[in-house]
Formats: sequence, C-alpha cells, structure tokens
Amino acid sequence: MLDCTPKEIKERTGGAINPAKTCQPIGAMYAALGIHKCLPHSHGSQGCCSYHRMHLTRHFRDPIMASTSSFTEGASVFGGGANLKTAIKNVFAIYNPDIMAVHTTCLSETIGDDLPTIIRTAEIPEGKVVIHANTPSYQGSHVTGFSNMTKGMVNYLSEATLETKKNQANIIPGFVNPGDMREIKRIINTMGIKFIMFPDTSGVVDSPMTGEYVMYPRGGTRLADLKDTGNSKVTIALGSYASSDAANQLERKCQVPAIVLKTPIGIKATDQLLMTLRRQFAVEIPYELEEERGQLVDIMTDTHFHFHGKKVAIFGDPDIVLAMTEFVLSLGMKPIYVLTGTPGTAGAIGSNLGNFEDDVRELLEEANIEGRVKAGGDLFELHQWIKNEKVDLLIGNTYGKYIARAEDLPFVRLGFPILDRSVHSYLPVVGYKGAMRLLEMISNALLDRADRDASDEDFELVM
Ligand code: SF4
Repeated sequence: MLDCTPKEIKERTGGAINPAKTCQPIGAMYAALGIHKCLPHSHGSQGCCSYHRMHLTRHFRDPIMASTSSFTEGASVFGGGANLKTAIKNVFAIYNPDIMAVHTTCLSETIGDDLPTIIRTAEIPEGKVVIHANTPSYQGSHVTGFSNMTKGMVNYLSEATLETKKNQANIIPGFVNPGDMREIKRIINTMGIKFIMFPDTSGVVDSPMTGEYVMYPRGGTRLADLKDTGNSKVTIALGSYASSDAANQLERKCQVPAIVLKTPIGIKATDQLLMTLRRQFAVEIPYELEEERGQLVDIMTDTHFHFHGKKVAIFGDPDIVLAMTEFVLSLGMKPIYVLTGTPGTAGAIGSNLGNFEDDVRELLEEANIEGRVKAGGDLFELHQWIKNEKVDLLIGNTYGKYIARAEDLPFVRLGFPILDRSVHSYLPVVGYKGAMRLLEMISNALLDRADRDASDEDFELVM
C-alpha cells in the first residue's frame, strides 16, 4: 500500500498529492442545506454539482438535493447570467423551495459573473428568496465555502429590527455533523437559554425513513429565525475558520457582538462554551451538565493509562483538528503530527480567519511537546513524517485508511468525509457526551491493537 511514498522528504514547490481538503462549493452546499426549505444551487457546469452531491450523500447516507446552472461552452465564454435566470424560474416552478442559496464554482468565478446583478434582475416569485455567496474553489477549502455561505445568510437575511436586543444567542456551529448540532442544541436547551442556530442541518441530512420521500425535510433554520439573528444579544461562533466570518459580519451589520470559541471537542473547549453562556446570560450550569462533566473526568481517570504518552497524528479540517489536539493533550497523549489541508497561515490566500500553525504550536509548547504542524499540507507529506517516526494512533477522515494500512496503525475516523463507515454523522463528538464517545473510539482502537499483538500468554481478560 502506498509503496511509492518515499521516506526521504524533499521540499515540494508545487502540486498536492492526496490532499487533505476539497473545494469551497461543497461546504457552501452543506451550509445551504441547513436552511429550512432551501435548495442549494451551484452556478457553474454541472459536473461540480454532481460531485458535491455525491460526496455529501456518501458521508451522510441521505439524499442531498441541489440544482445547477449547467454551463455550456457558450455560457463559459459569454457569461452564465441567462443560465442562472432560467434556473431560478425552473427551480421555483418545479421544486418550489422557499429559498435558493446560490454558490459559484471556479468556472463562474474565473469568468467573473456578477451574481448580485443577475439575481436582482431575475424573476423571483413573490415571497421567495434567492441569496448567494462567492465560493472560488482556488481559495481556501470546503471550510472556507461553508464560512462564505454562512456569511451570505447574514448579508442577505439578518435584520436588526428592535431597539433592544432580545435575550437570545446566535449559535454558528461550524462544519460539523448533524449529530453534533443536535448535541450543541441539547446543551444550550438544558441551560434554559433561547437561541437560534444557523446553519442547522439536523433534521435535513439525518432525516428519518418514513416510507415517503420528502424533498424538504423538517429540519433547517427557518427564514424568520435567520432574519431575527440581527436582534440577538450575542453570536457565538464555534470554530474560527468555519464560523467567525459570519459572526463578525453580523456584528458589523446588526451590532450583535461576536464571540469566537473553539469547536467544543474535549473537556476544556466544552467548559469554555458553557462558561461563556453562563456569563452572557447569567444562568447557573444545571446539575445534568455538571454530572456529565464529572462522568467524563471519571472515565478519563479510569482509562488514562491507555492513553498516556501515546504518539498521535491528527489531520482534517482546522477547527476540528485544533480542538482535537487540545483534547488528546488533556489525555496525556503526544500529538506529534498535526496537519490540515486548509490554508491557515496568516497572509495565505483564503486564510484571513486564523493562524492554524501558531494556534497548534502554542498548545504543543504549553505541553512541552515537539511536533510537526502544517496548514495547507497533504496526506503524502503526513505519510512521509510517519515513515520517519512512527505514531501509535492516526486520527482523521476516511482518506487516512491508506496510511493506516500501509504503516499498520490503529485508526480513529473523525471529521469529513467518512465514506467507509455509517452511523457516525448521527452521533456527536462535541460536548461532554461527545468526548466520552471519542474516548471510547480511541481506547477501542488502541486496545484492539494490543489484543491483536499480544502473545497467547500476555492476552489479558481485564484491560
Ligand atoms: S475545483 Fe472547481 S471544477 Fe473542481 S469540483 Fe471544485 S468548483 Fe468544480
């Protein structure tokens, strides 16, 4: 497996091999699915749209709907305005969504289609809405696309209509699974705080089987709620790469203060979310959540010897990887390789949202661990690092399974996409409950390996 990957690392100036990211529009499509009765629309040639729908379908194992402007060569030269106008007419006539959320591909970005003007001059039926976000695929990654579409929702829909802000929070959950969105909602509901989550794909890409196909399932943030985000007291953006841009735009447009936190993976990041909510809304943390936290600490204490000192390689999307790095450090593990495919060094194209490398290095330095950290890296390079110094565990999306097999490593699947296992998108990795699940996944992977490698006389019943 991967026999052509050499151990010797040479500086590469161009080209990625086995990238650890995909392009912007898929993130925008996912974000748009988090609006109730919304049909995502891809403004470009139809190949992109099919690919992105297929990829999301494989991860969520649910139907993923989207329409496309279906560019031909003519539109690619003379502009896709007519295509989009025809699409808007057809989509509302045939599929009847409440809202269309248009994103772009590298084709329409390169020819420079002026989407605001096309949309303004299109025939949009009374009571229906069309929003857009520019999502050039040659900038950033799918996470940038998610961020851009979420910001597009604020640009088009958020309104500050009240003089006094309502005692409610906006929650931007970031590029996470519907199971995570449900868990974040459960936590905030348990605290008794009113909130609007956007986008919210729970109930859309994890909808139940009823025997009848429903094009627009019950889930998704309602249009009225999206408008009302401008009246909230505060916006909490979970994960700076996926969520901070929209939160900052909401602050500029409607004077709703933005607070950017880590994705709440692990005990520390979950504590921060709860303490922020407690401070903002002057509420006490209910016993139910205290109990969950205490259970998590209990499990961490019971099992610490499984984790202590184990070397880990983590890759994936920056918000998830950063929070996961913090979590494995709290377990006494050593994350010696941390990599994201999303560009994340300040100044790089499409990366005005944070500094992944600095943030991870700070965590490693605090824990006195020497490691390699890279934003905008690829899995070829990660594999080379591992060939030079082996790790005890690999954590990342499905594409990591090739490295895990080549190097015979225990592997925990986390992030997007996971194409070779099911159920994962229904269950959380965020919050205290999600941390318990991660602990189980990590210790199962390590103990299965210990069982497999043990000689007969060392094969333990109790571990
Ligand atoms: S990189 Fe460009 S052409 Fe390829 S799928 Fe993404 S938007 Fe489409």
